[in-house]
Amino acid sequence: MLNFILCGAPGCGKGTQSTLLVEKYNLKHLSTGDLLREEINAKTEVGIKADSYISVGNLAPDDMIIAMLLKAVDENASKVCGFILDGFPRTVAQASALEDAFEARGIEIPYLIDMQVDKKELITRLIKRGETSGRSDDNLDTIKKRLEIYETKTAPVNDFYKNIGKYRLVDGMGEVEEIFERISAIIDKEQLSKCKENKQFAY
Ligand code: AMP
Repeated sequence: MLNFILCGAPGCGKGTQSTLLVEKYNLKHLSTGDLLREEINAKTEVGIKADSYISVGNLAPDDMIIAMLLKAVDENASKVCGFILDGFPRTVAQASALEDAFEARGIEIPYLIDMQVDKKELITRLIKRGETSGRSDDNLDTIKKRLEIYETKTAPVNDFYKNIGKYRLVDGMGEVEEIFERISAIIDKEQLSKCKENKQFAY
């Protein structure tokens, strides 16, 4: 399978790039933020609980997120060429659970593509998005809180992937198309190296 995590601070462009990558590589995009918003809109028990965290910019609990993500993985694993994980893992505990769960299922452990964007640019993009997104968390106070949580809780996830040799950095500044080319180059290189290792190329 072609599995990777698209990671980066809120507003880095993960959603936009995922849409393009799904199309190019025939992947399933799994965004834990989107899954949570579906639960919130459907007013499920999970959704009501999740909303109390999301609306103030906090992370939802690890066990809730892991269960939700793995359910979606199990529903789709036999139907797709691979997964783009967007917004997951956001903590080291989630990263560790993901590795164990994928290993147990015999699914390829994903590598992490880290999209780096300047903080000032992130805030500008998120405020602009808030004008039309209708999202309760796209306002200045919550944006600042989300960026702070990203730095304290999510940035250590990068070290987790560095330690297992699965961290790939990409410059997330510039035009959508040129960032897309950079990410595609990383994916193509990963697939080529799998080929060279004589592994099955059917991602
Ligand atoms: P996103 O759409 O990825 O920006 O996620 C929106 C919000 O959903 C985040 O600010 C968190 O409150 C929550 N959320 C999404 N993914 C996760 C996750 N992996 N762990 C904890 N909370 C999450």
